[in-house]
Amino acid sequence: MTTIAEVRPEVRIAERAGFCYGVRLAIDKAKHAREQGKEVTTLGQLVHNPGIKADLSDRGIRTADLADEVEGGTLIIRAHGVPAGEFEKVRSQPGVEVIDATCTWVLQSQKAARELAEAGYTVCIIGHEDHPEVKGVRSYAGENHVVVDDMDRSTWERVPRTKKLGVLSQSTILPNKLEEFASFCLRRCHDLRVVNTVCPVTLTRQADSVVLAADVDGMIVVGGKNSSNTKELAVKCRSVCEQTIHIADVDELESGYRDWLSGKERIGITGGTSTPEVDLEAVRDRIYTLTA
Ligand code: SF4
Repeated sequence: MTTIAEVRPEVRIAERAGFCYGVRLAIDKAKHAREQGKEVTTLGQLVHNPGIKADLSDRGIRTADLADEVEGGTLIIRAHGVPAGEFEKVRSQPGVEVIDATCTWVLQSQKAARELAEAGYTVCIIGHEDHPEVKGVRSYAGENHVVVDDMDRSTWERVPRTKKLGVLSQSTILPNKLEEFASFCLRRCHDLRVVNTVCPVTLTRQADSVVLAADVDGMIVVGGKNSSNTKELAVKCRSVCEQTIHIADVDELESGYRDWLSGKERIGITGGTSTPEVDLEAVRDRIYTLTA
């Protein structure tokens, strides 16, 4: 392996990086059930991380996309939660033991959506329509609800002009987007209720990452290219460190960013909520190898 940099950089990993506790707990529950000899299936991927997916599969933990595909054994509901109808369906399936690993923060969002709908508010959820967490939360929001995209203002026009609006967000969106959206909704109703459903883990992770990014020559954000919280983390880091890159994994660093490493004295690393610490450490170790 040839090395490329004349400077050996100091490499630091952000303080609160690695899996969030919601994802970690779901993985632990699945592994624990499997270790007890159960036939374990997860409803949807527990995490969009190739290494973890392979590890779970090697342990014999299967994944089903739909409740109908599960014929027995133990079913794990992932941290993002599932739509209410789907949850009821699996719970009533004979011979299926359900372990609900829905994150407590997501459960609170689901509860808030239900309570707002019951109190007559049109529920407005800001996030990504195709995100599993949003699909789950909206199922509790009754007939009168809308989902808008935090990255696409044109979708905000879906919010009706009406008496009572209730606002919620996907747990991983930026808090300033929720504030902006709440102000927008205020101009469309008389009675506005905003429930702050931004996950504190997202906030602390962003804060630590931005502090580190401001103190390095180059910042690496590791995580799936489809992961919204990882993309947003990269945007935040880039706002204080122009030399921020977003890579899916250590191999992408080596194949696409060898020149980028050259000449950097201080490099920071962070990752999205579904990027385990071991992936961040692998990136750090590869930087050391490439710059030795
Ligand atoms: S990001 Fe927050 S809300 Fe989402 S699973 Fe992790 S801890 Fe729970």
